[in-house]
Amino acid sequence: MSNYTTQMDAARKGIVTPEIEKVAKKEKMDVDKLMELVASGKVAIPANKHHKSLDAEGVGSMLRTKINVNLGVSRDCKDYDVEMQKVMSAVKLGAEAIMDLSSHGNTQPFRQKLTSECPAMIGTVPVYDSVIHYQRDLATLTAQDFVDVVRLHAEDGVDFVTLHCGITRKTIDQIKKHKRKMNIVSRGGSLVFAWMCMTGEENPFYEHYDEILEICEEHDVTISLGDACRPGCLADATDVCQIEELVRLGELTKRAWDHNVQVMVEGPGHVPLDQVAANMKVQQSICMGAPFYVLGPLVTDIAPGYDHITAAIGGAVAAMNGAAFLCYVTPAEHLALPNVEDTKQGIIASKIAAHAADIAKGIPGARDIDDKMADARRVLDWDAQFACALDPETAKAIRDDRLPEDDHSEACSMCGKFCAVRSMNKALAGEYIDIL
Ligand code: SF4
Repeated sequence: MSNYTTQMDAARKGIVTPEIEKVAKKEKMDVDKLMELVASGKVAIPANKHHKSLDAEGVGSMLRTKINVNLGVSRDCKDYDVEMQKVMSAVKLGAEAIMDLSSHGNTQPFRQKLTSECPAMIGTVPVYDSVIHYQRDLATLTAQDFVDVVRLHAEDGVDFVTLHCGITRKTIDQIKKHKRKMNIVSRGGSLVFAWMCMTGEENPFYEHYDEILEICEEHDVTISLGDACRPGCLADATDVCQIEELVRLGELTKRAWDHNVQVMVEGPGHVPLDQVAANMKVQQSICMGAPFYVLGPLVTDIAPGYDHITAAIGGAVAAMNGAAFLCYVTPAEHLALPNVEDTKQGIIASKIAAHAADIAKGIPGARDIDDKMADARRVLDWDAQFACALDPETAKAIRDDRLPEDDHSEACSMCGKFCAVRSMNKALAGEYIDIL
């Protein structure tokens, strides 16, 4: 029996857990400094006690920016092994978290497989699973049914759960009154909203928050406070519905921390580029520095097919200004279930955004790999360049497909003998430069 409940409880008691030790090492941070941040809630270490294969990570704006990949079994993709392969290749590409959004069949075996085999943090959205778990229509579920699914996920070893606790019956009036262009686009948020409308009852995740906190404290599940009212288009960004929910998320953050329960707060959404930084500052202020987990932000609405790019632009600016955790977006966003290639494109785009922000934030050691790449480029060492690349396979495949006609070791087919790097190396070495 350990003498602490959650990582936050341990940090507050001055106990160095194996997870705190591991995260401090990974982040090149002093253990005492990290403990202070975990104790105050500015860093979360989602680490369910039952997730034995976890390679713990910390989430906080002063740490390396982490990325999440959404996967899971669905009606159109129901092979557990194929989905597990996707999970492991996402981890290989650098995803620190996997959200299991399974929505078909018996979801528990896949969830348990994840927490017994996957080293990444595992997150779920229990409200999605409620209908599937009980195999009953939404309106027939009771508030207790939802809470029991949260408990089930906690017992299965899930590290963080997205709970849309911030919308209430007041939100129903607000959505009707303010006439947003896109209403609610959060899948979980829309389910909670629909359940409230159909039953006439208050949001179960809000009303039974204390019971949920007890479950999360017992198993050390981090709550990711869902943003049901995240804007679904630029026109709805930073409106009354979004900000009013954020204020409630701030209150719920404080209540969780009073129970030693770790919290992340989810954020927008579709946001014009000039509003991204302000959104991060407002969240940090209202939610007292709790790690911000952003879904994008997508900085334009008109790029279906390329939304991994619109999200990476917003994600880089968001992370540079305080977001700690980026949810990947794939080229299939708004269009279809992502396939393997879409997933890869989404991960790489998010990794670029996260890494660019880490360099801008001055995260210790973040730029080392870029400096190594520059050294390799200066000496035209292609293997060393591939080794530094975020996606070595693609980089190598492009070069190999279009090698220069003459000397393959020097230059590439972009400039051939006009290669600036080659010319400079030769000029500085006092050598003759042959162009023709
Ligand atoms: S050929 Fe041009 S693009 Fe290629 S390495 Fe040289 S300078 Fe760079």
